[in-house]
Amino acid sequence: MKKVVTDLQVSGKKVIVRVDFNVPRKDGVITNDNRIVQALPTIKYLIDNHAKIILVSHLGKVDHKDPAKTEADKAKNDLSVVAKRLAELVDTKVTFVNATRGEEVENAINALQDKEIVVLQNTRYEKGESKNDEELGKYWASLADLFVVDAFGSVHRAHASTVGIPTHLPSALGFLVEKEVSMLSAAVENPKRPFVAIIGGAKVSDKIAVVDNLLNIADKVIIGGGMAYTFLKAQGYNVGKSLVEEDKIELAKEYLEKAKDKLVLPLDHVCADAFSEEANIEIATNDSIKDNFMGLDIGPETIALYTNVLQGAKTVVWNGPMGVFEMKKFAGGTLEVCKAISELEDATTVIGGGDSAAAAIQLGFADKFSHISTGGGASLEYMEGKVLPGIAIIEEK
Ligand code: AMP
Repeated sequence: MKKVVTDLQVSGKKVIVRVDFNVPRKDGVITNDNRIVQALPTIKYLIDNHAKIILVSHLGKVDHKDPAKTEADKAKNDLSVVAKRLAELVDTKVTFVNATRGEEVENAINALQDKEIVVLQNTRYEKGESKNDEELGKYWASLADLFVVDAFGSVHRAHASTVGIPTHLPSALGFLVEKEVSMLSAAVENPKRPFVAIIGGAKVSDKIAVVDNLLNIADKVIIGGGMAYTFLKAQGYNVGKSLVEEDKIELAKEYLEKAKDKLVLPLDHVCADAFSEEANIEIATNDSIKDNFMGLDIGPETIALYTNVLQGAKTVVWNGPMGVFEMKKFAGGTLEVCKAISELEDATTVIGGGDSAAAAIQLGFADKFSHISTGGGASLEYMEGKVLPGIAIIEEK
């Protein structure tokens, strides 16, 4: 068991916390502050327990190859907007430092009183962040006494702020990461059965590793979204203009053979003659997709089948939409699957972040799941059975 923030003696100590403040923005304005809100339990715990709090996070991407781009990216991904929003959400002094190292940073940290917060500038302003530069991790560690990781969306990356710092400091999980790990491990490592996994989204190549691992541990693996068409083509169906990864057809055949009836594929589709809300639409079964049409959502028979397969499930993990849910005409399959999962009684239901989390929230189901992961990439890698370096490095109890 990994140490949790409550296992550390934080009173009067400088605690550096890697948070995930990578919030979506439009024209410099935060459009959704959920990631800041999700970090509040750990931050509030540290305030209540008289710690001196240093927050570090990345925001967007910063190109370090082309100097003109570097400056533009830095201007675009300035973390000061996040510090401003955080100051509205906590009842303590929040100081933003427009630097990631040096005197300004050190002075602000030395001036910190118990219960106060310093937010450093975007960790990706540093070229060495993404390379887990040893000197950088060591330097950031030298600013504090203790390290807490609460950035689940970043723990699959071995960066200076996720792995470098805890290499040099006593460390623990924050509440958000602890919840993520306990929910995902309950689902993937020790599932109550029947365990049904639902994998959708655009591409087989993105999801094949997770399908592979889930076929070993789940009782059923339901496939939806664009990736289904590579499997259907592998079964010999004509899928028209639907999304197909030709170079993955052989692999899909292998999985079909290996998985037998564990793998559940669509029976029918909402097909369109263009990738557009204005397209002509018709429902087609697997053997009636027309050459000039593409499947953009699962059809009614498939919804009935998937709802049926879900009945009685005690554990469900879901990653990837069943169709192009961003367009209303093709959101029905995702909506109905979301509804079916949310109506299950006594089941642990986990959404693996990314687009399916966005879909569930957009469709109004956010509070109907046991857990919606805050990290798409991290939860996918967890479900693939991979070690997450930002968690592996944290001290055991
Ligand atoms: P992913 O990031 O792999 O979970 O993929 C999510 C994306 O897959 C969303 O933007 C969906 O619009 C897209 N998608 C889902 N179903 C289809 C489909 N049948 N054809 C094309 N794109 C799809």
